[in-house]
Amino acid sequence: ILNIICCFVNSNRSIPALMESMDTGKPFLHAFFVDLDGSIKTLRYYAGWTDKIHGKTMPVDENFVCFTKHEPIGVCGAIIPWNFPLLMFTWKIAPALACGNTVVIKPAEQTPLTALHVGALVKEAGFPPGVVNIVPGFGPTAGAAIASHMNIDKVAFTGSTEVGQLIKAAAAKSNLKRVTLELGGKNPCIVFADSDLQLAVEETQKGSFFNQGQACTAASRVYVEEPVYDEFVRLSVERAKNIAIGDPMEPRTSHGPQIDQHQFDKILELVDSGKKEGATLECGGCAVKDRGLFIHPTIFSDVKDHMRIAKEEIFGPVQCIMKFKTQKEVIDRANSSQYGLTAAVFTRDVHCAMSVSAALEAGTVWVNCYNALHAQAPFGGFKMSGNGRELGEYALAEYTEVKAITIKLSEQLT
Ligand code: NAD
Repeated sequence: ILNIICCFVNSNRSIPALMESMDTGKPFLHAFFVDLDGSIKTLRYYAGWTDKIHGKTMPVDENFVCFTKHEPIGVCGAIIPWNFPLLMFTWKIAPALACGNTVVIKPAEQTPLTALHVGALVKEAGFPPGVVNIVPGFGPTAGAAIASHMNIDKVAFTGSTEVGQLIKAAAAKSNLKRVTLELGGKNPCIVFADSDLQLAVEETQKGSFFNQGQACTAASRVYVEEPVYDEFVRLSVERAKNIAIGDPMEPRTSHGPQIDQHQFDKILELVDSGKKEGATLECGGCAVKDRGLFIHPTIFSDVKDHMRIAKEEIFGPVQCIMKFKTQKEVIDRANSSQYGLTAAVFTRDVHCAMSVSAALEAGTVWVNCYNALHAQAPFGGFKMSGNGRELGEYALAEYTEVKAITIKLSEQLT
């Protein structure tokens, strides 16, 4: 049935893409090609797993036979954010259903449309009533009810670290339900002097500004090696000034508005803090005049690690560029964060790529690329960026209970 929903979503993907664009303000073409593509691939990938989830047989001492079964956990709650509403919906429901669970999912209050649309497709595809339950509502009421419900066996959450802590506490205080969390990030990108500089500029900038910077994977700390620092800043600014801001429905638009007034104000307050703390504002740094919630793509250079813009998750179109001199220094600086979601390394030296990616404290490290997410590869955070992994085979472990069955035989097997 997962495959049938996948076909429904795929066969007329412009409808959910349009809804996603209207609901979030993201450019329609990004919704069409990125969000829809990722959602469809996730559904298809987990549909393929449904008949391949099985346990193992273990040789044990004496005359016993022992094997495991991977059973569904039961009722899985899910609470998702507003930045990638359909993608997050499929990241949650697809592995949960593939493992045989039922789902109670709460979309973000800002962006319920695509979840409700897919709800209709779920019905049409033939899921029995009660298997996929969509509960739109606010966090402190509907979300908190999921986290503390005695009959919900697991909760998967994506959103802010603060709310992630509340979810884990509510799970602990209620029925110790299983918890997976995908939280914030302050993701370092390290650009070495030997890298393909043009590529590094493009990828880090896409990483910083994609989805108006509203991504937990946002490339928000860019460390550039001293010899190429000035050139990197110059090329980045030149590129940022050409970003097409405008109506999300226009095909040439690549930068839409922020999600709401609250996020808009929070971003501009952090931009102000960057100016006050002495970072150099290279471009942007303000709202687009008379255009509602649009913010110019903003680049700060000469950013120092102690500044708020270098430490706090901005969740807006702000790129912070810092200078470094040695590999050891940059690894220490990149790791000195409470977060550990993603990181990136740009270099032509495979030894450097391997040693730096081994040293970085992050659930995902991209080498010479950015935001290269795949349904087959696990995604999740070290440290306060979360617990557990989504996507890939690894996510299946988050949606099953392992049962060991041991049978005593009357005679020892040879
Ligand atoms: P949030 O964490 O408040 O909201 C995410 C989801 O959690 C929403 O569905 C919301 O309704 C729900 N929620 C809120 N309070 C809850 C509670 N007490 N109990 C249960 N569920 C609750 O995020 P936000 O306010 O929308 O955005 C704030 C910040 O969160 C952003 O600035 C950004 O830093 C971060 N964020 C991260 C991601 C991500 O993908 N990791 C996504 C969105 C926001």
